[in-house]
Amino acid sequence: MSFKQIILSLTLLCTALSLRAQQPAANWCGTSADITPWLEWYRDHRHEFVQMRSDDMIYVPVTIHIVGTDEGLNHFSLEKAVQAVCGMNEHFAPANIGFYLFPGDPVRYINNTEWFEHQYSGGAQMIQDNNIPDRLNAYIVSDPAGACGYSWMNAIVLKSACSGTDNTTWSHEAGHHFSLPHTFSGWENTDWNYAQPAPSTVGDNRLVERMDGSNCDIAGDFFCDTPPDYLNDRWQCDDNQESNQLQIDPDSVSFRSDASFLMSYASDYCQSRFSLEQIDAMRANLETQHASYIQVTDLEAGVDDNLQVQLVSPIDSHIVQYNNFELVWNPVPHATIYAVEICLYPSFGEQVRLFYKTVYNETSVTVAQNILNNRTLYWRVRAYNEWDVCNPNDNLQVGILKTRNISATNELERVVTAELSPNPVVAGMPALLNVTSDETMNAKLHITDASGRICVQQELRIYPGENKLDIETNQLQAGVYIISVQNDKGLLLKRLVVTE
Ligand SMILES: [Zn+2]
Repeated sequence: MSFKQIILSLTLLCTALSLRAQQPAANWCGTSADITPWLEWYRDHRHEFVQMRSDDMIYVPVTIHIVGTDEGLNHFSLEKAVQAVCGMNEHFAPANIGFYLFPGDPVRYINNTEWFEHQYSGGAQMIQDNNIPDRLNAYIVSDPAGACGYSWMNAIVLKSACSGTDNTTWSHEAGHHFSLPHTFSGWENTDWNYAQPAPSTVGDNRLVERMDGSNCDIAGDFFCDTPPDYLNDRWQCDDNQESNQLQIDPDSVSFRSDASFLMSYASDYCQSRFSLEQIDAMRANLETQHASYIQVTDLEAGVDDNLQVQLVSPIDSHIVQYNNFELVWNPVPHATIYAVEICLYPSFGEQVRLFYKTVYNETSVTVAQNILNNRTLYWRVRAYNEWDVCNPNDNLQVGILKTRNISATNELERVVTAELSPNPVVAGMPALLNVTSDETMNAKLHITDASGRICVQQELRIYPGENKLDIETNQLQAGVYIISVQNDKGLLLKRLVVTE
């Protein structure tokens, strides 16, 4: 069969595929247990592909759809999504398959609470309404039907909490997208006592793969270099990268599952690879069912990983208004995507991160949120572009800034901030006054009612950092009160509403 004939018979096949598309089953991975019609077709034609096998790079364009709530909140970070695509590149490198972001259209933000946390009906609607042809569409949501991710309706859908740099979810779902079944294919949703020899068929009358390899090309996942695996729930691997769970094949041969396969259910840290036959199938899938993805034969220039993004301002401990300031940097050659972070310490890292935003085709960002006042903070910028989604450079220029309340009317307001919560508060319940200071000082706290009568009077000792002060409301009737903190530096006022 010629390549053209192959593509022709596939066109017919794709029509069949859309008719057969079944709702996936919820699990760690929600992808349907079915073998796709394409893989059934490939099983009977793979010898023709083996003859045409090449090592040419195949590049796959990706657009990331980041879904937030109706209010436009809780979008997954674009930089983390870019890093997830980078992680796919590492896993797919032995297959000579590379992913890049679609130039000019790398990311789309969607605000829809019903898709942000969805059941399969919502996921179907999301994909139907947003899928872009001729590229891999990756959707990131908070809850994809209870799973870590799924591959369905010519898209992959990923859970944000399963999309970190330590996760293999994206590569696993992309494997499904390019036709791969689970290594334990057929066993999905089957309860089994592994102390028993396996039956000869499982699930929807699927052949169970045997250790002697006698049926490896027609049983399980159809691949002979992925040995039997019957484990359909998440499992940990041992030091040999194998399952602790022993299984017994229909010939009573016992074995452990190989944890290194990305298409298994081994924990993410165990997984690292696709088998050679899996790679052949994915490449064949790309050349036929997903041939429209193949649009470039080379990537354009990326970002030089040794280049530092030059920061313009603020640097050198410049003082900024703590809740409204701008970060500016110089453009880096070829860069289009910049990830900006502000941290409490120059060590950076997620634990001390106060601000994190990834911008596209911009070289400044406005911080218009309440970031810590009276603090020395550190910021840096990392650069990417659509062709180059990996940037391992940790030698980045660090800018130092100081936050102040420049608009304060007195010195105390300048050096101290106070947050009051909850407000309103129910009488009898304590409210919390969180005072942040950069120096040690004494002050007086007064609570005054609407008629100016002092209800509470207290001496305060304020230390550098956060000071959490309980405001007792036992003695207060419902009404409006003024909380004042005062010393020789000035006065700070907060309004407290006490309800019944
Ligand atoms: Zn899966």
